[in-house]
Amino acid sequence: HAKTLGKNNFQFYSAELNQIVHEHLMLEASLSRAIREHEMVLDYQPKVDLRTGKVVGAEALVRWRHPVEGMIPPDRFIPVAEETGLIVPLGEWVIDEACGALKAMRALGMDDFVIAVNLSARQLRQRQFAERLGETLRRHGVDPRNLELEVTESQLMEQPEDALGVLGQLKALGVRLSIDDFGTGYSSLSHLQKFPVDYIKIDRSFLGNVGHDGHLVITRAIIALGHNLKLKVVAEGVETREQIAFLRKHNCDQMQGYYFSPALPQDVLQEMVARDQRLPD
Ligand code: C2E
Ligand code: MG
Ligand code: MG
Ligand code: MG
Repeated sequence: HAKTLGKNNFQFYSAELNQIVHEHLMLEASLSRAIREHEMVLDYQPKVDLRTGKVVGAEALVRWRHPVEGMIPPDRFIPVAEETGLIVPLGEWVIDEACGALKAMRALGMDDFVIAVNLSARQLRQRQFAERLGETLRRHGVDPRNLELEVTESQLMEQPEDALGVLGQLKALGVRLSIDDFGTGYSSLSHLQKFPVDYIKIDRSFLGNVGHDGHLVITRAIIALGHNLKLKVVAEGVETREQIAFLRKHNCDQMQGYYFSPALPQDVLQEMVARDQRLPD
């Protein structure tokens, strides 16, 4: 077997590996500096109520404004942050920043607005995570019901029993909880029923092309499952009118996606919500 791989192949793999290791080390070194030196930016993707068409919340999505590399998307540095543990200070910054935004929006009378932040399993596993979150909320004077925490289904299923305990504590704080990228994480239905969550977010791969029946059957099934469990269902990655019509027809609760808006800077989001509020019902 080793023979068939050949020398050139080995060099190819080793060069590629080298490149990956190099990038990884580069990221790791500059990531901790970046968190300290405020190179991280939080943008907000609006979430729309499918019945009223109003913007009822937003998902906070982190970006790295790198001085040399330019904007780096989260998929390139969150995995490194998770492996190195830097996700803990980064995650704290994200929550702090989102709480600041909630406070600013409350001052503008946007009392019911919900901001969702993404959490990694590693953050949930931190000791006294819920207690510390409670302190952060009090420090900012933010009402817990205005904060939503998203955890992916696959991360919840890494250690479902432990996750169940922390989710219970978070629920007791009064924050909202959602399962992100639902449908890709193989959760057993018995776990799903036990998790004290408020929303499930259908993974955007299922929405795919409307017209691709197999996927839409799954989307419909997830909406029905969520509603049977008394959960609200959110569709992500909505890009077309056809998808919106389909989601409305099947009573999906909320949507987010490029069709309506990408993630926006905080001030642009606030203007959008303010415009929305001024419209007559
Ligand atoms: P996610 O939580 O599932 O977020 C949705 C992703 O889909 C975002 O990518 C968003 O920009 C993108 N998206 C939104 N609408 C559309 C659409 O219509 N079409 C398509 N193709 N994509 C759409 P983004 O911002 O690159 O984030 C990627 C992932 O990085 C997120 O997936 C989340 O898992 C993670 N992430 C982002 N911010 C944070 C954070 O603060 N903490 C942690 N732990 N993870 C984060
Ligand atoms: Mg998310
Ligand atoms: Mg998602
Ligand atoms: Mg995702």
